[in-house]
Amino acid sequence: MSAIILDGKKLAESVRAEVREGVSKFVAEHGRAPGLEVVLVGEDPASQVYTRNKEKASLEVGIRGKLHSLPADTSEAALLELLGRLNADDTVDGILVQLPLPKHISEQKVLDLVLPAKDVDGFHPVNAGLLASGRPGLVPCTPRGCMKLIASSGTKLLGLRAVVVGRSNIVGKPIAQLLLAEHATVTIAHSRTKDLPALCREADVLIAAVGKAEMIRGDWVKEGAIVIDVGINRVDLPPNSAPDAKKTKLVGDVAFDEAKARAGAITPVPGGVGPMTIACLLENTLLAASARLAR
Ligand code: NDP
Repeated sequence: MSAIILDGKKLAESVRAEVREGVSKFVAEHGRAPGLEVVLVGEDPASQVYTRNKEKASLEVGIRGKLHSLPADTSEAALLELLGRLNADDTVDGILVQLPLPKHISEQKVLDLVLPAKDVDGFHPVNAGLLASGRPGLVPCTPRGCMKLIASSGTKLLGLRAVVVGRSNIVGKPIAQLLLAEHATVTIAHSRTKDLPALCREADVLIAAVGKAEMIRGDWVKEGAIVIDVGINRVDLPPNSAPDAKKTKLVGDVAFDEAKARAGAITPVPGGVGPMTIACLLENTLLAASARLAR
């Protein structure tokens, strides 16, 4: 059996198209576009790419995206002051602070300051609490994207066994909450879990959010399972003398070729969860803008 490949790029395009339509209606109704402010501190190359992509993707759907690129030595007080201003600005609907932050800035203080109504990343404790209580709020983008990918496979989660490998606040825990809300029976695994391969083999739905290249092998996957690979890991390629040869490539947390032979459906890396994260950020911005103006 060979798995269905869940095409995140294609699905993300359809989400963006819906957001574009929603944004046009929003503009017609309110006379302004939803506003998303993305804040980057420092020069981490991956974060620079992510934040530029977020700004660009916003503009493409008609959202007024703005990137604030601050130097690495920006003080915590200066960052908090900027966030205070964005919180108070009525034309700003969504605020996103790119993580990780430089060591001298408290991530917790920063995330706690963003108004829950503008917290399009869904990382504020109020939004995390609303999700855990099954109440409406802003839900983190990557987990939302994972749920849309699962839905696109036509799977009904009710009663299925789901295993989430990874328990971070931004990926593992919120995905587990969303799966639970759809009536899956959910286990969260982490670095201290015993006999992880055996646990994974029980999963009808296996979510990998670890950050370890190809850690989850093909024989950890149950026949016919849905495998969602959140991991993004850059690995070195074997040396090649060709002058234009690539030196690195991106792989997920799942050994894709092995897992594909057993899974019913699987997401590729790249082109799976990654594009869905940005599409869901755009969706969250529109949702935040609409909810704020409906108050
Ligand atoms: P974190 O580092 O915050 O969390 C990793 C989790 O994996 C932890 O809970 C850790 O356990 C667990 N873990 C680590 N090693 C093992 C192991 N050997 N066995 C079992 N569990 C293990 O990562 P994130 O949640 O932020 O991200 C996970 C991955 O997803 C990364 O590759 C990241 O780049 C990617 N990512 C992709 C996104 C996308 O848009 N596609 C968005 C966000 C993240 P413990 O808690 O015990 O330490």
